Amino acid sequence: MKPLLRILVPLCALCITLRAEALEKWFEDFKATATPQQLYTFLYALPKGGDLHNHLTGAVRSEWYWDAAIASSQRGYIYYTKVKIANCVPFGSNEYGGAGYLLLFRIISQQQYAALDTCQKGEYKRLQDLDAKEKAGFLESMRLDESWEGRDEFFQAIWIRINEMLRNPYIIAEILLKNMEAFGAEGMVYLETQQGVDGGVKADGTPLSTDEFADILRAALASPRARATGVTVRFQNALLRFTPVAEDRLRELYAVTDRYRDLFVGVNMVGREDNDKGYPLRFLPVLRELRHQYPEINLSIHAGEVDEPNEHIKDTLLLGATRIGHGVNLITQPDTMLMMRNGPYMVEINLISNLLLEYVQSYKQHPFPEYLRTGIPVALSTDDRGMWDSDLTDEFYVAVKEFNLSWDEILLLGRNSLQYSFLDTDTKQKLLADYDRRMAAFAAAFRKQGLAAFAATRPVTYGFICKHYKVCFP
Ligand SMILES: [Zn+2]
Repeated sequence: MKPLLRILVPLCALCITLRAEALEKWFEDFKATATPQQLYTFLYALPKGGDLHNHLTGAVRSEWYWDAAIASSQRGYIYYTKVKIANCVPFGSNEYGGAGYLLLFRIISQQQYAALDTCQKGEYKRLQDLDAKEKAGFLESMRLDESWEGRDEFFQAIWIRINEMLRNPYIIAEILLKNMEAFGAEGMVYLETQQGVDGGVKADGTPLSTDEFADILRAALASPRARATGVTVRFQNALLRFTPVAEDRLRELYAVTDRYRDLFVGVNMVGREDNDKGYPLRFLPVLRELRHQYPEINLSIHAGEVDEPNEHIKDTLLLGATRIGHGVNLITQPDTMLMMRNGPYMVEINLISNLLLEYVQSYKQHPFPEYLRTGIPVALSTDDRGMWDSDLTDEFYVAVKEFNLSWDEILLLGRNSLQYSFLDTDTKQKLLADYDRRMAAFAAAFRKQGLAAFAATRPVTYGFICKHYKVCFP
């Protein structure tokens, strides 16, 4: 080593250490002394990056669905929901066929209602006509808020209940705006959400074209209400991976993604992984076929959201994915973990989802800190936060409380949520530069004034954080 370098290297190392320690200390002091409410207020005010793992139709508080469904009646969409079982189909109903007869609070359209016999019509009520008790039951039926509710309630009941509303483009546009407003209020600037533009219907039940659906979303994004949130939005098309026609469906989704590149930045694959009909390598041939036809389309794919150790994450990287949704069982695959350390692939971490869907029994089992602290790129995201009744601040709160995040780790998580987004380079660089500025200003304001710097912040809390961590703002 040259003499000058011999002096500079230790000096430089010292100055980085000093700077890091100085930066950390104020946050370490704050964590050690803050009440839960103070920590939550701090994290609510915290500038945030993006939410890269978000299912738009799962990101909706049930009250928002209610309001959007009622509002769309002005456009002619009328919905009914099942409020009682009158044994109209006493024997031979198919409870496992997708829309079981015994499922309460399933929502149907006016066209589906008209096709029912008189007995079954008596089991349903128009949403507008529910009494207070029925409305409370309807709102509860979309949340995982009871100890006996978990994975099966989520996958096999809630999605079937709400499915018909998801075909209404005006409900989709409204819940998009509600999400932008709520996320914007907690300091988030980018939403990469899973929502398509096909399968829509008009009020009379006839199909809506993808062009019409895309135009409704574009109009929502261009509205003053959307612009006021400061949130940039892009979409992913999501494939339900275990159906018999999933390959053909993926071909359709690639065509849609390519056609509307102003809206869509990637494709995802969803559906419970313990249904082995959707195993990752099933899609290798069709993806190789599609890569012959289309310029690059980004892939972020759910993988490792499963109890058993398996090679789904490695197989999913072979499919061409650059982001992995959940990655809970990556911890069981040492070779894949080594490959992902300091690598180009990011794991989208969904702490609350993994607990409520029972992929971990407690946070003591969660592999997130192992990934974070061994150099596997990670970011926090919300998944189906409507059903969890939570928000992005809750994810940060859980991470800080359960894993003692340092300030530098919080910074890294926020940066990753933009750095690994599928945004175009210019927009990404702009959001990253803006994030760095906002974080620097936030830290400076707090170090100067303490929590008084955020006196105007009015945190919002929902059911999850209030029930599990006793942080309840009105
Ligand atoms: Zn997901």
